Amino acid sequence: MTEAERTRNEKLGQKIVKALERRHFEAYYCTSKEEAKKKALELIPEDHVISWGGSETLSQIGLLQELRRGEYKVIDRDRAKTPEERTRLMREALLADTYLGSGNAVSEDGQIVNIDGNGNRVAAMTYGPTNVILVIGLNKVAATAEDALRRARHLAAPTNAQRFLPDTPCAKTGSCGDCVAKDCICAYISIIRLCRPAGKIKVILVGEPLGF
Ligand code: SF4
Repeated sequence: MTEAERTRNEKLGQKIVKALERRHFEAYYCTSKEEAKKKALELIPEDHVISWGGSETLSQIGLLQELRRGEYKVIDRDRAKTPEERTRLMREALLADTYLGSGNAVSEDGQIVNIDGNGNRVAAMTYGPTNVILVIGLNKVAATAEDALRRARHLAAPTNAQRFLPDTPCAKTGSCGDCVAKDCICAYISIIRLCRPAGKIKVILVGEPLGF
């Protein structure tokens, strides 16, 4: 990354931190993955049960690897031995104390967009865990809420579909066909316009590309 890119990211990050704070999020800007991981760990109280939704970002900053080392109380659906156990753990995650995730897009005025197939991620971010931490790379910034929604639907979702290969137009063409397929991964679309109660959702913006 060039010095100009770093400087621009720092300025944009600070601008969005202010926009998020105006909407009652707690917000931070970190320049690197390492800094973001450290900040996320600082924001988790020691006695908390922790869970998370599917997120490349959390893996890319090394946070999930750290939480799986055994020193934390976690609900980890990827340890399930059967589909039934996985579903049970996903439901239990809704009552964890801290929930970790990312966003599919964030607008420059501080609104966070997520698209979800099962709805577990958006449900947990909205109501359930009392401490929600979202780590979002600046590659997911969009100028307006409308642009953020467009990014989530036309970039994040078709990319995400390549991981699961559902029987949907985007899995075949890489482009959203606005489908209503049974295994559509865009069943639930959420815009977190503001954080209520204030401070429940902590957003860590990172000046590196993370997730998609
Ligand atoms: S084609 Fe369907 S699953 Fe794929 S991005 Fe569009 S709405 Fe989502």
